[in-house]
Amino acid sequence: MRATMNKSIIPNSWFNAIADYPELFEPYMDSETYEFLEADDLKRVFTPSLIEQDLNTRQRTIRIPDELMQFYKLWRPTPLIRACNLERYLDTQCRIFFKYEGVSPIGSHKANSAIAQAYYCQKDGVKEVVAETGAGQWGSAISMASSFFNLRCKVFMVKNSYESKPARRTMMQTFGSEVVSSPSKETDVGREVLRNSPDFSGSLGVAIGEAIEYASKDDSTVYTMGSAFNFVCLHQTIIGNELKRQLEQQDIRADHIISCIGGGSSFAGISLPFLDKRKNSIDLVAVESDAVPSVTQGVLAYDYGDSAELTPLAKMYTLGHKFAPPGIHAGGLRYHGLSPIVSKMVASGYARAEAYSQLEIFKAASIFAKCEGYIPAPEAAHSVKSAIETALKFRREKRNIIFCMTGHGFFDLAGYHLFNSGKMEDSSIPSEAINKSISDVRDLNQAISSPATKPVNTYPDHQQPNTFNAWWTRNFENTGSVPPSRSGNSAVSDDGLPGDGFNRKENTNYNILTQAMVQEALQNRRTEIRISDTCVVTPLAMELVKQHNISLNTH
Ligand SMILES: *Cc1c(COP(=O)(O)O)cnc(C)c1O
Repeated sequence: MRATMNKSIIPNSWFNAIADYPELFEPYMDSETYEFLEADDLKRVFTPSLIEQDLNTRQRTIRIPDELMQFYKLWRPTPLIRACNLERYLDTQCRIFFKYEGVSPIGSHKANSAIAQAYYCQKDGVKEVVAETGAGQWGSAISMASSFFNLRCKVFMVKNSYESKPARRTMMQTFGSEVVSSPSKETDVGREVLRNSPDFSGSLGVAIGEAIEYASKDDSTVYTMGSAFNFVCLHQTIIGNELKRQLEQQDIRADHIISCIGGGSSFAGISLPFLDKRKNSIDLVAVESDAVPSVTQGVLAYDYGDSAELTPLAKMYTLGHKFAPPGIHAGGLRYHGLSPIVSKMVASGYARAEAYSQLEIFKAASIFAKCEGYIPAPEAAHSVKSAIETALKFRREKRNIIFCMTGHGFFDLAGYHLFNSGKMEDSSIPSEAINKSISDVRDLNQAISSPATKPVNTYPDHQQPNTFNAWWTRNFENTGSVPPSRSGNSAVSDDGLPGDGFNRKENTNYNILTQAMVQEALQNRRTEIRISDTCVVTPLAMELVKQHNISLNTH
């Protein structure tokens, strides 16, 4: 039993997790008024149908339109493949499976959301779509999808990849797209970045800023997004829904489900359909790069999705929107933030995160290639590494480990070449840069929760909680759900203002404890730090705590 190919198992619906799990939903916030945004506010850059999906907290399953199913059938169902040779190599009793999304025409899972976005854009009367792309995966996906649905397509490609991956560029151009190196001279955002740092190798944050600016200039042009947003996660649940059927057919019970996280859509897509309210039946593992460690080193806070501060604020794990990720080969993981849904999954204990370095993941990927023949994309190599670690850790247990192989590595062979020749440099945690950009996020979140700095032209402070309640009632009135409790990691803190994981007052209960916060306590000669019951302590923070004998108290 290696692969399953059975047309009938393609799911005809997506799973809209925020209807079943309202606690995973965090509304976007306006960056000037600090009010939660409504659908209308978002329609300036996105197409209405997708905004509706993004904020849909009522329907748990959403039917996939027939016209779209015709395109999904081009590559779905994707095979679920057992990595028997790898199991033998590792001498483990665990069974390792991978859900291979690299069979899509453009070679990754991103096609799943691209065709859905292009379909809804065309339906809404959009003429041109614009996108940013890191490694070139999203650009290829949206380019292909645009050609399916007769849309013009413009792609801002992170300079680093634009130069190192000319083949990806050609692929997009073959589908008819216009590809621009970012930072570019075509937008204010790009020109500003170039003025300050002419040699900047680009980042997803800047490219997003350029794409949004371009989209907001014209009514018939809209922005599309390769990850992070709720509607992208929704489209990707086709992976998990399909996997569920494949597992049922073969009578396999998943013990571990693993995917890498850049913006988090593949992880959301493969894992959301397996959520269960008891939180403990399946180990859901989100794997990040240690060079861009949003979850393991970042904070859960409101932040911009782009470095130009054009997006609304989203509550997510972030390294700060000014963080410029180092140039790792896994371009798709170079994002400072993370999907709000995936962030909440981790913060509420439904999932956990791991981080690995560049050499570790290439080593794992090369073992995998030698055993199974498939060469993983560097992003997917993070999941391979995590699967191998799990299979070794539980070597004598018959566990079923499933990881999402998000894409193939055929466009990343230059990276493999460096690795094979021993010339690849290892990544390392850019702690200093992280501390600096996180402190900006802290300031932002203090401003959000501080009545004194609220803009005068907005609601009086005492009405702020009501705004939230009204919003909540509108969106959840039919679900019977109650607003999240006003403590801990909820959207609203005790004083009724948006919670942020930080505290203004000294030494009150932290919900997130990072290295920077412990350093601050040390500077103030505090030997005790008070944290909430649900506090997430980052590994580096924990190291410092132990090193300096600081006591963490929950009361
Ligand atoms: C973009 C990309 C990723 C990361 O995207 P997520 O939305 O975090 O899943 C992972 N793997 C590949 C191959 C990609 O192209």
